[in-house]
Amino acid sequence: MSKKNTYKIAAIPGDGIGLEIIPVGMKVLDSAAGKFGFRLQYEQFPYGAAYYKKTGFFLPPDGLEVLKAFDVLYFGAVGLPDVDDTLPAKLFTFKVRTGFDQYVNYRPARLLPGVEGPLRNKKPQDIDLVVIRENTEGEFVQSGGFVRPEFPDGMAMDTSVFTRKGIERVALYSFELARRRRKRVTNVTKSNTLIHSLAYWDQIVEQVRASYPDVQYSKMYVDNASANLVLHPEKFDVIVTTNFIGDILSDLGGAIMGSLGLGPSGNINPEKTYPSMFKPIHGSAPDIAGRGIANPIGTIWAGALMLEHLGERQAADCIVRAIEATVKQGVLPLDLGGSAKTTEIADEIVKNVESTNQ
Ligand code: ATP
Repeated sequence: MSKKNTYKIAAIPGDGIGLEIIPVGMKVLDSAAGKFGFRLQYEQFPYGAAYYKKTGFFLPPDGLEVLKAFDVLYFGAVGLPDVDDTLPAKLFTFKVRTGFDQYVNYRPARLLPGVEGPLRNKKPQDIDLVVIRENTEGEFVQSGGFVRPEFPDGMAMDTSVFTRKGIERVALYSFELARRRRKRVTNVTKSNTLIHSLAYWDQIVEQVRASYPDVQYSKMYVDNASANLVLHPEKFDVIVTTNFIGDILSDLGGAIMGSLGLGPSGNINPEKTYPSMFKPIHGSAPDIAGRGIANPIGTIWAGALMLEHLGERQAADCIVRAIEATVKQGVLPLDLGGSAKTTEIADEIVKNVESTNQ
């Protein structure tokens, strides 16, 4: 498939530090585009919690229709302290993920050389994994209800939904990814207690596995996997897991990298029928917003994942190398024990993009 020369990007900074990190991310992406000979055409959208306070919508009724015209979405974070914190997921993130069938949530966790992670004795080669989280069904379908909640015999229910199609496609993606990495897949569930839904999950993942005899496969329960991520992260290459478990494990992945500010994520529609969405793993961090001190690395790295998704592999690799060089030089944000401002870090990454040999 031939590559395009111009890509249309919907930039959605959102709220809080989103307004600071997306613009600097765009600057770094532009420097890579200039170097590798393609163009990025951005249109910015104000969607998010502040927009909700003004209009009553996180995403306007025609939002998905408008965004559908773009190749990809470059997204910061949504949420404000004075807006109900159940709304951003319900009215924005889940709508985009399901509306655009972004069934893969791709979250790499790597210890960058030069970052002191929280795990003593672990080196960069020990922490290099990807959590593939099923992203459109499972525990987060928001199907449920209350029965007499205000009475002593009140009840509440949430129903999880797992489909053969949903499990099969995320498993396929994970095994294919493992083939391009260290050829190891760990399937993380809790199928010893969720004996219907997650036993079905295991069964289907293992059917898919049969076509990948070259990939080493193991199954781990989430309690054990959490302990192993801290004690022996080197055991993991690709983790395939459910929506809820993946939500938690990928934050743990972010934590063992050294800071939530470092982690990137992709909400991916692998078939490219719809735009995929790339964002940092952290939220809008209102406690530090407006001070110019947010760590932009997770957002810039998410931009690199976005370029890779668009087929610009060299440019993506160049950005990741520029991030590594910047961190190694000791240009670190506050959350990593340094004092560099958001823009200073991004400017250094731009310099490193420009000077990296190809
Ligand atoms: P969400 O529910 O949307 O994930 P949250 O409120 O749980 O959001 P964050 O907004 O990610 O969490 O913030 C958690 C903590 O991490 C805050 O103290 C915040 O300041 C810090 N933090 C998050 N992102 C960054 C960043 N990019 N740079 C520096 N600190 C950050």
